[in-house]
Amino acid sequence: MRNIRLSSGEIAQVDCLSCAIISGQVKPNGGVIIETDYFHAHQDVAYPIKGLVILASKRHIHCFDELNNDEKLDYINLLTKIRQAQREVLGIEYVYYFYNEDTTHHFHTWMVPRYEWMNAFGRSVESLRPVLLHARNNLSNEEHEKEVREAIELLRESIKNRSL
Ligand SMILES: [Zn+2]
Repeated sequence: MRNIRLSSGEIAQVDCLSCAIISGQVKPNGGVIIETDYFHAHQDVAYPIKGLVILASKRHIHCFDELNNDEKLDYINLLTKIRQAQREVLGIEYVYYFYNEDTTHHFHTWMVPRYEWMNAFGRSVESLRPVLLHARNNLSNEEHEKEVREAIELLRESIKNRSL
């Protein structure tokens, strides 16, 4: 069991945070963006960046080559749908994708939007960590978090309408 501090300040005791989010025991900030039989998409709670989406496998797996054929298809379709929504409702021109297999969570992909202010931290992969830290240390205020929640709502609506 691990203790996880939630954005509400509550402590949740979980074996696996991904399993806890998927089962609904832990609620990610702003709720589910889209969910299928195989994947779950939500905002990352630790880094308040508008339109930063985490796409996580529902199965308790960690590596790309553990995905079965149905999951692979679902994965690429979901990435595409989320990406289109980021472009259309948030005007996001570029996204950085990142996943690491030595995770304590399930296999998950970070979709990190690229904003103008991020250029101050360099380009490409080396800018990722400073950008995330900057967001956590400087954008964790009520006003910005409201914008983040509004962005989640816009993405959710756009994706919902797209799949009809
Ligand atoms: Zn799990």
